[in-house]
Amino acid sequence: MKTMTCRQLGGPCGTAHQGATADEVIKAQDRHLRDVVAMGDADHAQALDEMKGRWKHPIKGMGWYRKAKADFMALPEDGVVSGGC
Ligand SMILES: [Zn+2]
Repeated sequence: MKTMTCRQLGGPCGTAHQGATADEVIKAQDRHLRDVVAMGDADHAQALDEMKGRWKHPIKGMGWYRKAKADFMALPEDGVVSGGC
């Protein structure tokens, strides 16, 4: 598992998404954007628009997607989670 934050994926906050693949964290980010915008968060509205645009224009969105995947590949695997209860 690796962790990418909302900010690393082009969003405005530090919410962390965990996944085994880049696709998983990208989907988690998509869901996160929809959730917070549905709750009225304006900061995420632009990021959500950009995300929607990528699905509508896969060719144009490919650059971002490739970069997100490369960033994900470059991350270290999550180690033993420190802290907790
Ligand atoms: Zn966020």
